[in-house]
Amino acid sequence: MLDLHDYVASIPNFPEEGVTFRDITPLLADGAAYAEATRQITEFAKERGVNVIVGPESRGFLVGAPVAHQMGIGLVPARKPGKLPREVISQSYKLEYGEATLELHKDAIKPGDKVLITDDLLATGGTIEATIKLVEALGGEVVGLAFLIELNALHGRDRLNGYELLALMNY
Ligand code: IMP
Repeated sequence: MLDLHDYVASIPNFPEEGVTFRDITPLLADGAAYAEATRQITEFAKERGVNVIVGPESRGFLVGAPVAHQMGIGLVPARKPGKLPREVISQSYKLEYGEATLELHKDAIKPGDKVLITDDLLATGGTIEATIKLVEALGGEVVGLAFLIELNALHGRDRLNGYELLALMNY
């Protein structure tokens, strides 16, 4: 039985002293592991009647795209400012130091869409909270949040109360 944890590299003191970075590139690089992670998230999405996937730049794309492809549904990228060429809505959020912003094309989500939001990793939840606000501002219903990894100590889950959350691995 394939254990996804075997495909996560843990790097102490990166990007700064005292932080352990969880690197998912070994998982992406292994066909069987990437397929198994995709299969589990696809199952979660199918149970919730998802019809579109939204992923925040950039690792959210890597988790969401294969699931969208497998389900035969669309993928909407939530992008950093200045990348999307048509009319957008924006949402800013706090990082540990400073602020970040994500954008969606205004016509990317239709009212009533059942949306799954994907990312590689849930830390404080700020990125996902901003993505949820964008989807809901356009009338979408967020029916699930899916991550490869949840960092339990940062309690991101507490900010996302009321949303169905799948994490394939917990650290
Ligand atoms: P949050 O907004 O605090 O939940 O941070 C989540 C975002 O930061 C995700 O988009 C991740 O890609 C990134 N991130 C934070 N910590 C790590 C890590 O240890 N490994 C990989 N990505 C991380």
